[in-house]
Amino acid sequence: MPMILLPLLAAAAAPAALQPDPAHLRATVAKLVSFGTRHTLSSTTDPKRGVGAAENWVAAQFKAIGEACGGCVTVERLSGHYTGTRLPSEGAEIVDILGVQKGSDPNRYVIVSGHLDSRVTDVMNTTSDAPGANDDGSGVALVLEAARILSREHFKATIVYAAVTGEEQGLYGSRLLAETAKKRGWQVDAMFNNDIVGNTMGQNGVRVADRVRVFSEGIRASEDLDQQMARRAIGGEDDGPSRALAKAVDHVATAIPGGIDVFVNRRPDRFGRGGDHFPFLKLGYPAVRFTVGAENWTQQHQDLRTENGIVYGDTIDKMDFPYLAKVTAINVGIMRRLASAPAAPTGVTISGELSFDTTVKWQPVTGAIAYRVHWRRDDTQDWTDSRDIKGTETVLKNVPVDDNFVGVSALGADGSESLVTFAGAAPRD
Ligand SMILES: [Zn+2]
Repeated sequence: MPMILLPLLAAAAAPAALQPDPAHLRATVAKLVSFGTRHTLSSTTDPKRGVGAAENWVAAQFKAIGEACGGCVTVERLSGHYTGTRLPSEGAEIVDILGVQKGSDPNRYVIVSGHLDSRVTDVMNTTSDAPGANDDGSGVALVLEAARILSREHFKATIVYAAVTGEEQGLYGSRLLAETAKKRGWQVDAMFNNDIVGNTMGQNGVRVADRVRVFSEGIRASEDLDQQMARRAIGGEDDGPSRALAKAVDHVATAIPGGIDVFVNRRPDRFGRGGDHFPFLKLGYPAVRFTVGAENWTQQHQDLRTENGIVYGDTIDKMDFPYLAKVTAINVGIMRRLASAPAAPTGVTISGELSFDTTVKWQPVTGAIAYRVHWRRDDTQDWTDSRDIKGTETVLKNVPVDDNFVGVSALGADGSESLVTFAGAAPRD
């Protein structure tokens, strides 16, 4: 749980902001299920069945959302050719459908993603019914609902709403999106992977409706050994960009009335597993994964069947749409905050060896009217103290550098706050 609240957050929200609607979410999942299978290698030409029909439907939804806001959301179809063990020997064309809401800053991006493709027990079975209601119709429904809500508002950062394919074959659609971001030189402030976010009944029969897990890396996949050793030297394992993002998600969730708890899971993903945020982490972008509090594996990647009294399959009747609406609200809240705020500061350093005071310095950020310096004792996980500063330097009296962690965020004119950048050592001359 966070130690502090951000009272200015509400200022960033439009007064009549829409709320996520369980009925909308259910209708989207029902429509996605109606395509029979959305396997990445299923039909791309059948107008009713297969991944191609599903892609066209999602593109049409983004188009309608864009028309409703005077063209603020445009549709883009990315495609790329990939080869791999879960693809045919000649490779396959992987497609992502994007809704893009341009922000006023030229190059900052916030990305929310779900995967459109589905599967049954045999990952190469392209024809059997694979409803993929929760995995990951839930994520795609969340993305479309976020677009419906946030397209009524204006932001500094560009928001990319993404329905990717190829996840079950090896995260290809997300790789395509991450590689596209790199190629185009996007500054990705945050990527939210929503995968399996719509059930509350766990396989053990215990319902968990009061929390959602948010997974984040500590040691960064994108850093080389020297960079990792530098992070080790400052004790920064719990404060990299993705972990800072997960903590920010937790803070935002706490401020939502009637909301659910964020379980800040200090692992990149579930034990030994991975997901669509991984290609982004590999390229150095802050990214986290949302997943339900309690999974049910009889409802993931299963042929539809009943065996020994157990009903297998990822069907819509097993989902909890009021819960999915709450997970959607958290995504909307954190996207609204980060897309409204200036970019996070860079070049944040601390010094003060052999002293009881710590000097903090950082680089100015375009659009920031002030900065918030956070600190905490280094035997704790969440910021406990903060001070707002107009310039780009301050001295924290009687806050010894040996015993405290420090970070700095940028504040926008509307009170919106960027992610906190963890302070490291200044380069030695
Ligand atoms: Zn999935």
